[in-house]
Amino acid sequence: MQLDGRVALVTGGGSGIGEGAAKAFAHAGAAVSVVDVRGEAAEAVARTIREAGGQAVAYTADVSDEEQIRQAINRTVEQFGSLQIVFANAGINGMQAPIEELTLAEWHQTIETNLTGTFLTVKHSIPHLRAAGGGSIIITASVNGNTIFSLPGYACYSTSKAGQVAFAKMAACELARWGIRVNAILPGGVRTNIGERTYRRNLEKVTYDIQMPRPFPPLTGRPATPEEVAELVLFLASDSSRYITGGTFLIDAGLSLLRG
Ligand code: NAD
Repeated sequence: MQLDGRVALVTGGGSGIGEGAAKAFAHAGAAVSVVDVRGEAAEAVARTIREAGGQAVAYTADVSDEEQIRQAINRTVEQFGSLQIVFANAGINGMQAPIEELTLAEWHQTIETNLTGTFLTVKHSIPHLRAAGGGSIIITASVNGNTIFSLPGYACYSTSKAGQVAFAKMAACELARWGIRVNAILPGGVRTNIGERTYRRNLEKVTYDIQMPRPFPPLTGRPATPEEVAELVLFLASDSSRYITGGTFLIDAGLSLLRG
């Protein structure tokens, strides 16, 4: 799964799944653009890649701000000359709360980051992917909203993640004519820093009394590492997946089989 000569852009590349994928792309030979709203985090990942002998740049951009993400994408192409791989991964859990208590501002923040941010990242990448003669877009959705509907307070997050899957499938259909593939990954639990961007209010009002069998998830009894998720993302970015588009890829160690 080599990516020599390819250019990859990763949103949310400063931490967690995005950081793991940025490093995996670089290790496979791609030049990597690490994009994150936390510029220092993006720069730290890019520096680590360069120190390991890879090619990487960092850009500060909020994916929900059209001008910022458009500029980050365009500057990536100015820097490296082309763009073939886009990992639309930036996302937040946001506020978890009962629906009747969730404010409109909290709803907007999660939807705009996770769903609108995905749209803007894909939209402004398309001209460059077309110019490159095709490419691969990978979108980080989630089991929540797609195979799981039982986490208390996750209505907004799950809606954004279901929306990303519908968007990925529509985009796969529309962009196939230009050789651009679009796939979504559905991780279960992954050991990342997403808890730093998670807020909870009054969840006890909507909690279910569910006793999970052990081990949970059944295959491993532990969350995935970002590196394990990155191996799937690398496959979807590479020519090894050249016949695959419009797909959703569960990576949850069987978690969805027990908790639907
Ligand atoms: P993380 O918090 O470790 O990394 C996410 C990165 O995205 C952070 O560096 C953050 O600064 C950045 N980010 C947040 N908002 C942004 C914005 N508006 N613009 C640009 N960058 C922004 O979390 P993670 O777990 O690696 O999350 C990555 C993706 O994986 C998210 O879409 C998340 O919903 C999804 N996901 C995570 C899990 C899990 O268990 N961790 C499970 C399923 C799906």
